Amino acid sequence: MKTVLISGAGIAGPTLAFWLRAAGYEPTLVERTPALRTGGYVIDFWGLGYDIAERMGLITEINRIGYHVQEMRIVDSAGRRLAGFGTRVFTELTGGRYVTLQRSDLSRLLFERVKGCIESIFGDEIVALHGEPDCVWVDLKHAGERRFDLVIGADGLHSTVRKLVLGSQQRFERHLGYIVAAFEVRGYRPRDEDAYLIYGRPGRMVGRFTLRGDRTLFLLVFAAGHAALPVTLDAQKAMLRDVYGHDVWECPRILAELDRTDEFYLDRVSQIRMSNWSRGRIALVGDAAFCVSLLAGQGSALAMISAYVLAGELGAAEGRYQQAFARYEALLRSYIGAKQRGAERFAGAFAPKTRAGMWFRNLVIKAFAVPGLARLAVGRDIADALQLPCYGWPSLDQVTATELFIPIHGDRMA
Ligand SMILES: Cc1cc2nc3c(=O)[nH]c(=O)nc-3n(C[C@H](O)[C@H](O)[C@H](O)COP(=O)(O)OP(=O)(O)OC[C@H]3O[C@@H](n4cnc5c(N)ncnc54)[C@H](O)[C@@H]3O)c2cc1C
Repeated sequence: MKTVLISGAGIAGPTLAFWLRAAGYEPTLVERTPALRTGGYVIDFWGLGYDIAERMGLITEINRIGYHVQEMRIVDSAGRRLAGFGTRVFTELTGGRYVTLQRSDLSRLLFERVKGCIESIFGDEIVALHGEPDCVWVDLKHAGERRFDLVIGADGLHSTVRKLVLGSQQRFERHLGYIVAAFEVRGYRPRDEDAYLIYGRPGRMVGRFTLRGDRTLFLLVFAAGHAALPVTLDAQKAMLRDVYGHDVWECPRILAELDRTDEFYLDRVSQIRMSNWSRGRIALVGDAAFCVSLLAGQGSALAMISAYVLAGELGAAEGRYQQAFARYEALLRSYIGAKQRGAERFAGAFAPKTRAGMWFRNLVIKAFAVPGLARLAVGRDIADALQLPCYGWPSLDQVTATELFIPIHGDRMA
C-alpha cells in the first residue's frame, strides 16, 4: 500500500503529495494542463491553511510575494468612495497571519515543495478508472495504463475523477446564482496600491486589484440563471460585454482590456455537495470533494486542510485505507458543511441584486467604522472551528530537507 495517483496539481494536489511523502507514501501527480497555470485571481489566506503552509516551510516566501491590503473600498460611478473598511481587522484577528496572494503563486510554491522528488506528469489526464480489490487500474490519455494502490481526485470543481467514479457534475453541483470572471492586464491606469476597489450595480460588481510588476487584476461577478456557460472565449467575452456594456466607472476601459486578453478565468459560482467523498480505493480532496465557492473566501485553505488530514489519516491507518477515508470524512464533514452554509448565506450580500440591497450592504460596511463592530462581524467567520489532528509523519525530516531532495523520477511532460 504505497503508490497514490493524484489527479490535479492546483492547491490540494501538491499539498497532498507533500504530506503523503511525509507519511511514507509514493505519490504521482498528473495535471491536465501542460504547465502550472499562471495569473488568475487573488485569494485571501489565513487560519489553518496558513498554519499548514508554515509547516511546509512556505510562510516567508508567501509573505514576501503576497499583498497586505489596507482597504476594501466601494466606489461610485465617478470613482468616489461610497463605503469601505480598513482590513486591519483581519490582521488583528489573526495575529498578523493574513495575506492576499495570487492563487497561481500559492499553487506554484506548493508544487515546488514536491517538484523533482515525485513523478509529475503534465499535459495528461485520467480517462478511465477500474478499481480492483488490491489496486486501481488507471487509463491515462497519453501515458496509457498504470496501476496504483490508491487514486485521489484533486481536480477541482469540475473533477473528472468524481465524474468517473461517483456520478455526473449535475448530481452534486449547487449553483449559487452567479458567474465569476477574472483576468489580468499590464499597464492599466489608475493604480491604487494596497486597496481593493469595488464598483457595483444591482446584480453585478467589478473589482480592481493592483498587482506588482505594473499588472492589474479584474474580478467580475454577476447574477446569472442556470443557463449553460458559453464555451468559446469569444462567446464568453460577448457575455461580459452584454452584462457590463452599459455600466460606467471604468467599465468601458475594462471591457476594452478584456478584448485584448487571451487568457481569462470564467466559471459558475457553485458548490459541490456530496454524501460521501470516496468509493473503494478512490477518494476526493479540495474543490473536487466539497467546493465551498469563492463566496466562502477560504477554498484554498480548505483544500490544503483536506489534503493534510487525508494524508495524515492514510499514514496513521497503515494501509487500512477504508478506515482512513472514513476518518477523513468524519473529521471534516461538519466543518466544511458550516463553511458551505455560510457562503450560501453571504451570496446575496456579495453582489446585491437590487438597489435597496446595495444600499443596505453599503450601510453595513459603513458601520464597520464603528470601533469593535468589524471585529464582532467578521470574528466568527474568520476563526477556524477545527483543530488539526496531530499525526506522526514518519518521513517528514526527509521531506522538509528540500535542498537535499534528489529527484527519484523527475518531472516529465506527456
Ligand atoms: C474568483 C475566486 C476567488 C477565490 N478567492 C478565494 C480566497 O480569497 N481564499 C481562498 O482560500 N480561496 C479562494 N477561492 C477558492 C480557491 O481558489 C479554490 O477553492 C482552490 O483553488 C481549490 O483548490 P483545488 O486544488 O481543490 O482545486 P483547483 O485549484 O481548481 O485545482 C485543480 C487542478 O486540477 C487540474 N485538473 C482539472 N481537471 C483535471 C483532470 N481531468 N486531470 C488532471 N488535472 C485536472 C486543474 O488544471 C487544476 O490545476 C476563490 C476562487 C475563485 C474562483
